[in-house]
Amino acid sequence: MQSTTAALWIVATPIGNLGDFSDRARRTLNDVALIAAEDTRHSARLTRHLGIDTPMMSLHEHNEGARIDTIVERLAAGDSVALISDAGTPLISDPGYALVGAVRAAGYAVLAVPGACAAIAALSIAGLPSDRFVFEGFLPSKATARRSRLAELADESRTLIVYESSHRIERCVRDMGEVLGAGRRIGLCRELTKLHEQSVLLEAEALAGWLAEDDNRRRGEFVLVVEGAPEASRERGEIDLDALLGELLALTGTKQAAKAAARLTGRATNEIYARALELAAAD
Ligand code: SAM
Repeated sequence: MQSTTAALWIVATPIGNLGDFSDRARRTLNDVALIAAEDTRHSARLTRHLGIDTPMMSLHEHNEGARIDTIVERLAAGDSVALISDAGTPLISDPGYALVGAVRAAGYAVLAVPGACAAIAALSIAGLPSDRFVFEGFLPSKATARRSRLAELADESRTLIVYESSHRIERCVRDMGEVLGAGRRIGLCRELTKLHEQSVLLEAEALAGWLAEDDNRRRGEFVLVVEGAPEASRERGEIDLDALLGELLALTGTKQAAKAAARLTGRATNEIYARALELAAAD
């Protein structure tokens, strides 16, 4: 261990392939007095694989508050404790934030043993700008709330990273196409580091079609890496929207006109569609 005094170690675990585990992480889990794990039965597979028999205690979103006192007491007694989650980096769409805050407030060191994180792995391979990005975790599961969150994010120029489950992946991508624009590029990363790993970079509408084509493409765990709103288009958003929509409505239907205006201005399709309906009704 690098720290001889009692500390809380935040240890990343693999997101798929159990072989992706550093020596430092293994040594840390071996040397601490206690491992707090999200699901102890699940994590026992990993510790067995590593030949580690450190005692484990559960710490998940429903008992984190109650576990904090126990962990702070162990630290006070001079024991170091490690926190792991089911996969990847604890605290990243996983429990641990309240614990880290409480341990710091109690005056103990918190140290990281970094490793896998699905969001960062996906960003590193998606093929979209990686210099500035926003991590949104899971979008709301209900369609209305998800679409309104996407509308709030429509003008965000940084690359957006989202976690999504297999049963919502297709609907989520469809919503992205409708709210952010059919042409917005999305990197889909499925089953990273696992047997059926797959990643593609497609425009939103094409990606929804790609997902619909084959049931297997909707199985497993997903990260979506979404292209940010183009800065230039956002500036073009200053142009007279009504005039642009007027021209487009003279050529095509409301839906097509709204889609085209959204592409040209970089603004959210649903917002423009609502304005196009108003203009069409006023004619
Ligand atoms: N703490 C984890 C991390 O560092 O990535 C994330 C935990 S969150 C509860 C689980 C979500 O992460 C999954 O629903 C999926 O969106 C994403 N995820 C985890 N492992 C993945 C993998 N191997 N491939 C793709 N996405 C993954």
